[in-house]
Amino acid sequence: MFKKFRLRVLPPKVDLTLNLRKNTFALGENVEGVLRVESREDFECSEIRCELKCIESVLVVKTTYDEDMEGWVEEEEWETSVVHSAKPRLSGPLHFSKGEIREYPFSIPIPPSAPPSLRRADRVVTWSLKGVVAVKRRPDASSRAVRLQVVRPSQATIKCPRCGALNPVHAKYCMNCGTPLTAP
Ligand SMILES: [Zn+2]
Repeated sequence: MFKKFRLRVLPPKVDLTLNLRKNTFALGENVEGVLRVESREDFECSEIRCELKCIESVLVVKTTYDEDMEGWVEEEEWETSVVHSAKPRLSGPLHFSKGEIREYPFSIPIPPSAPPSLRRADRVVTWSLKGVVAVKRRPDASSRAVRLQVVRPSQATIKCPRCGALNPVHAKYCMNCGTPLTAP
């Protein structure tokens, strides 16, 4: 009985790996890759999905009345909000056998109107992606969250003349195919 109980509350024993061909994406582009799931036990999976998340943190100054000091004080505080989130389903319910390996290709759009990645003293925007295996009545198993660099397509990228992939302006070689890039 005790063993059954333990099994129910632990996430499934699976190794999840996200394989992306690149880490820099332009707004409006699709994040394409493959989620690899390797099972180390027999279990019934209820859903396999990706989770793309854009989180914005803004440093705000709040004025509050301090009773001890009998005066108004300014306090800095980070306000965090989810600006964009997508959870595309890669598979519905299915059975995994111990040792089984399955691969799920995905293509998730980044909205053109979303904010690009940013790291400023008073405003931080981060984009991340992870793979999830969900099981009923047990916690989810997740891959490591991969940090994505999301840039504005017009200003901050150069298109590879060979494969068409978008690269950061300062890249010397295409991050996708290795072709040397010359500044525009
Ligand atoms: Zn290329």
